[in-house]
Amino acid sequence: MDIKLTQIQPYSEDELWSPEKFPMPERSRLHHLEPIGIGTPKVESLTSFVTRLANSHEVFPSILLSRVINPLLQQTFIKNYTSRGLKTFFNRSHALNGYGTIATDFSNVINQLTLHNQLQFLTLIPFSNILVTKGLLRPYKAWCPICYQEWKQNKHLIYDLLLWTLKDVTVCLIHQYPLIQNCPHCCRQIHWLSWKSNLGYCSYCSQWLGIAQNKAISNNSQIVNQERWMVNALGELLANAYQLSSLLTPEHIQKSFNIAVEKYTDGNIAAFAAMHQIPKNTCWGWYTGKNCPSLSALLQICYSLRLSLSQFLMQDFQQTATTLNKLTFERQSSKKARLSPQNFNLELIENTLTTILSQSSESLPTLIDVAKQLNINRRLLSRHFPELCRQIVDKRRHYQHLCHIASIDKCCLEIEEAIITLGKLGEYPTEARVCELISNPGYFRYKKVRLLYKKEVQSIIRSL
Ligand SMILES: [Zn+2]
Ligand SMILES: [Zn+2]
Repeated sequence: MDIKLTQIQPYSEDELWSPEKFPMPERSRLHHLEPIGIGTPKVESLTSFVTRLANSHEVFPSILLSRVINPLLQQTFIKNYTSRGLKTFFNRSHALNGYGTIATDFSNVINQLTLHNQLQFLTLIPFSNILVTKGLLRPYKAWCPICYQEWKQNKHLIYDLLLWTLKDVTVCLIHQYPLIQNCPHCCRQIHWLSWKSNLGYCSYCSQWLGIAQNKAISNNSQIVNQERWMVNALGELLANAYQLSSLLTPEHIQKSFNIAVEKYTDGNIAAFAAMHQIPKNTCWGWYTGKNCPSLSALLQICYSLRLSLSQFLMQDFQQTATTLNKLTFERQSSKKARLSPQNFNLELIENTLTTILSQSSESLPTLIDVAKQLNINRRLLSRHFPELCRQIVDKRRHYQHLCHIASIDKCCLEIEEAIITLGKLGEYPTEARVCELISNPGYFRYKKVRLLYKKEVQSIIRSL
């Protein structure tokens, strides 16, 4: 079809300036980053999203949180922007991944700022009706070093899984590798958010936290089936967050629990309590809805009933009699296999402790971890082998002390470098400016660091 250009009427000036003619899509104030893994067990945590968001805007998380997010929150979680004020907030940054006021307030504000409507799925908010705070979240980071390394090698985004924030998760969902909870370089525990959080790196010594799979040393045989089962069950729960969020009411657990008692022990609470080795009064509290079981307790019950958490919550208790008989049998045999203080293998424990003591200092486990590996009580270890236990504790402490001294020395070097850099820029090296350039400004509280800074500044003043 021929179009005669002369017949096309141009827009009048009024029309060109009319906003109705050119509808402008709403713009987000902060980058509209895609959250990772929603609807899968590998969903990202909110603290990880915040760190990536800060990174995307090329600012430190502390700046993003204090200057942009904090003023919009309903409640004041960051009282002031000094390092002390922020430190108090970072100490409880794990709560951003939980289900309480902090998680709700932050996810709402970050949803608004990034024009998302689903960031609450990076937290435990969808399960708020069925969770109890006790024993739920880790205050410090846990991570799979192999995951980090593989993402880095394959140029994938590096992030922290919401699963890693749960205390009951002790192994990696993908690699079945025990999660790491202390930086292997400086031994420190790392908060989920900090002044200069950088995903995959230690917030204190700035070292990379990943390890290649062929270099990762672990005795995977020490990981019990229950740990593998738990990570899968919790992964499935997080993957079903969207579907479950609309179903879970505050009465839900009590209802599921009561059906389970009816189904497995014909309504006999004492028998159900004995079956799961739970105090009878505790069980009664759950049955009457007076108390709600912790996530750990729920997992224990589901594990011994061979039910997934989702099945328990959906009240799907369809099991064959054969499975139930098998369960009863396994329960009886596992009861017999339980170690009593009288018959546990002292020789094996002594050998294990001696082997641990001969290990290099950086890989020394805590006595709690050793007791867990040996499936015995921590107190029994100290009672039977006080000397070996003391030596292990001393060796760990000595190593941590050396790491601490090394980090202080590293901080001093960084201060010297920062002062030189500021000198080249023609800037006076105020403490605040130096703090911005070093990886751990908190070290200014140490006398050695303060003295070095003073000495350096005085020598600059003298040379002027
Ligand atoms: Zn992994
Ligand atoms: Zn470190």
